[in-house]
Amino acid sequence: MNRTVSVNDGIIVSMNDKREVFRGSVLIENNKIVQVERNSSKLKADEEIDARGSIVTPGFICSHTHLYGILLRGAPLKLMPPSDFTQNLQRIWWPMDETMNGDDAYISALTASLELLRTGTTTFADTFSGPNAIKGVLDRIENGVLEAGIRGFISFEATQRRSEEEGYQGLEENERYIKKAKDDKMSGMVSIHASFTVHDDLLKAGKELSDKYSVPLTIHTSEGKWDLYHNLERYGKRTFERLYDLGILGKRTLVAHAVQVNEDELDLIARTGTSVAHNALSNMLNAVGIAPVPEMFKLGINVSIGNDGYIFDAFENIRATYLIHKVNKLDPRVMSFLQVLEMSTVNAAKSLGIHEKLGSVEVGKLADLVIIKPSVRPTPLNESSAYGYLVNSVNGKDVDTVIVNGEVLLKGGKFVKIDIDKVNTKAEKIVSDYWRRLANVTEKVEVLGL
Ligand SMILES: [Zn+2]
Repeated sequence: MNRTVSVNDGIIVSMNDKREVFRGSVLIENNKIVQVERNSSKLKADEEIDARGSIVTPGFICSHTHLYGILLRGAPLKLMPPSDFTQNLQRIWWPMDETMNGDDAYISALTASLELLRTGTTTFADTFSGPNAIKGVLDRIENGVLEAGIRGFISFEATQRRSEEEGYQGLEENERYIKKAKDDKMSGMVSIHASFTVHDDLLKAGKELSDKYSVPLTIHTSEGKWDLYHNLERYGKRTFERLYDLGILGKRTLVAHAVQVNEDELDLIARTGTSVAHNALSNMLNAVGIAPVPEMFKLGINVSIGNDGYIFDAFENIRATYLIHKVNKLDPRVMSFLQVLEMSTVNAAKSLGIHEKLGSVEVGKLADLVIIKPSVRPTPLNESSAYGYLVNSVNGKDVDTVIVNGEVLLKGGKFVKIDIDKVNTKAEKIVSDYWRRLANVTEKVEVLGL
C-alpha cells in the first residue's frame, strides 16, 4: 500500500539544475518525491508536515567520514601529543583502531549515524579501520547504521601498515559486503587507507574491485606532507603522479583531502574526472594545510565536503569550508554560499555515483529531506535569504525534521523510532570498556616498512 507524506509551505532550496529556491510544498509517495508545487497550498497526505517558517533542503551528503572517530571524543589516551600528521596516526588513530572490536564498531556506527541525522546529514561515505576486527565487521557497522535509519556507504580501510596480507583481507571484507549489501539504503564501496601505507599491487587490486562492481574507490591522498615525501623518495613521483601511473584515478575514484598537491597534480585530478572530498575542519585540527579548493573549482574538479570523523554537524562543516579559503586567499570572493551548498549536496552525490537519485528536491528523486527551522529569525526568511541563513546562521540544533527514503526519522528535533536514553546508556557501557582497553596503550610507534 502506498504511504504518502507532504511537506507544506516551506522555503525550498531545491538544488535542481537551475538551483531554484521557492516557496512551496513537496509530496512523497513511499520512498520517492512525486510532486513539487510552487505555492503555499497544502498537499494532502497520510502525514502532513507544516514547514512554514522553515527551509527545506535535500538531505546533506557527507562524502568522507569515519564513524568510529566519534569514540575519540574525550578519550583517555596517555600518549605523547603528536607534533605532526604522521605522529597523529601513530599516536592516536592507529592505537585507537587496533583496540577496536565488533561491539565498538557497532556502537560507534549507531551513535555517529544518529548524530549525523540529528544535524542534517542523510547520506554518508564511511571508512572503518580496525586491523584486529576485519572479518565481518561491516555487518556490525551495518546493524548500527540501519538501526538509526540513515543512508550510508560503508567500507573497510585496507592498509598494509602491519603486513601485506592484512591489506588483502581488508579488500576481501569490502568485496564480501559489496556483494551482500541488499538494503536499499546501504551500499558498499572500496577503501584504501593512503598511498604511503600500501604497495602498488594493492592499489591496483582496489581499483579492479571498484571497476568490477561499479562502486566508488576512496583513498586518503596528500593529507600531510608525509604522503608526498614517501612517494617522492620511494617512487620518484608525487602522490598523484604515482596514482595516475597506476591507473587509480578516474570517475569512480573519490580522493580525500588532496592538500599537499601542485598544479600538475590538480591537472591529473581534473583530466581523469576524479572527485575530491574536502575536510576543512579536520585539516585545521591536524594542522596539515589548506587544500587548493578554489583552484580545483577553476579546473572543473568535482569537490564535496567530508567531516573525516571529526565534527559531524553538516552546518559546521559547510561554514568552515565557506570561511577557510577566504582567509587563506585574503579574498572574500573565492567561496560563495551556493558553492558550499553544492559541495554538500549535488557534488557529494556525484562523487558517490548517486546523483541520478539524490542531492536535490525534484520529482523522481529519493525522498531524503531536511527541514530546518531557525530558532530565532532576526531577518525575513524567504527565497533570497535562505542561502544566507543556511551558511551564516543555522546549525544542527535548528534541524527540526529529517526524512530518509520517505520515512520521517526526526520530528520536532526528536528521534521518532529511537529511544535516545537507551542508546546513550548502551553506548556508555560499551565505550567505557573500550576506553579501559585504550588507556592501557602507552606507546605506539609504527615502523613503516613500505
Ligand atoms: Zn579520513
